[in-house]
Amino acid sequence: MLRNKLPGKGTTIFSVMSKMAQDQGAINLSQGFPDFDGPEALRERVTYHMSNGHNQYAPLTGVPELREQIALKVLDLYGCNIDPDTEVAVTPGATEAIFCAITTVVHPGDEVLVFDPAYDTYEPNVTLNGGVTRHIALRYPDFSIDWQQVRDSITERTRLIILNTPQNPTGTLWGEEDIRQLREIIAERDIYLLSDEVYEHIYFDGKQHLSLLRYPDLAAKTFVISSFGKTYHTTGWRIGYAIAPRPLMDEFLRIQQFINFSTNAPMQYAIADFLRDCPQHHYELGSFYQAKRDLFCQLMAKSRFKLIPSSGTYFQLADYSAISDEPDTEFAARLTREHKVAAIPVSVFYKQAPDQRIVRFCFAKHDDTLREATGRLVGL
Ligand code: GLN
Repeated sequence: MLRNKLPGKGTTIFSVMSKMAQDQGAINLSQGFPDFDGPEALRERVTYHMSNGHNQYAPLTGVPELREQIALKVLDLYGCNIDPDTEVAVTPGATEAIFCAITTVVHPGDEVLVFDPAYDTYEPNVTLNGGVTRHIALRYPDFSIDWQQVRDSITERTRLIILNTPQNPTGTLWGEEDIRQLREIIAERDIYLLSDEVYEHIYFDGKQHLSLLRYPDLAAKTFVISSFGKTYHTTGWRIGYAIAPRPLMDEFLRIQQFINFSTNAPMQYAIADFLRDCPQHHYELGSFYQAKRDLFCQLMAKSRFKLIPSSGTYFQLADYSAISDEPDTEFAARLTREHKVAAIPVSVFYKQAPDQRIVRFCFAKHDDTLREATGRLVGL
């Protein structure tokens, strides 16, 4: 008899809603991906490298050219000096890096703190390693962290805290006070950090992204995870990476080598070229998406959805309690079926969903797609 290693976990909401959108012929504002391509110059570099002999296994840690560019980028943006040979690993997508990082530190019985609403990959990864997640719900409606609750949730079994900034799905950013509280809490404790920063370039309104790489004392205990899919509008390429200090990375690599061995080579060379030649792309990504957020919010202003301010990521939360009191999974399904716009119900990101009526829209879409979709939503 096959025993289920992830009891209670079905198909991810992203697969469910994208399939429903497709089956219903709806505009898909659910799963987070752009409906436009990445830069042509980047795509041309992939073709170039495929035609010029870069089609065999890359090294386990990633091609040296890309690791070098990642090191230069984090020095430029966060003032952080990493050794590109020993402190970075390129992975097939950030999801894989998250799994390897969790597997590196979590042993059976260990506890891991996550902030709800949390991205849905963290908890199953902890479960697969025999660990247990402790969930701290962010405060509604500003989704700030209750640090007293964090303190109260720490035990001698707490091994890891997972944070995500800019945060999916809330669009919130960590601030200096959060960093200060975190520092105090983990001081002199045997607790590691996993900082999921895949939206690191997408933040708005002159705010800042506080990568943990900015803080040497925290970075010494942290796996920082990022991805190129969000940055270059290439979520289907599946290239992410982890940065961690040497002792953590050595252990991470011992595990990673038996999971994926290495990441596809030609795209790594292409991204390395593009990072070197076109840093403006990531410098300008925040304003590119801020314009989309503003357009989406302006078009939705006439609707009965109440928008919850988004300071980063390419997601916008919307409270629909003025429209319906259905639970969010039912509302999202009906929205897809009857109004032909798909969104993500936010309750699925909670261990214990509060009494909220919120869905998540992805605004990484052509302006015309946003106009068409909001045209269908404003009448509700
Ligand atoms: N990160 C994407 C989102 O939040 C989904 C990725 C996935 O489908 N696993 O929508």
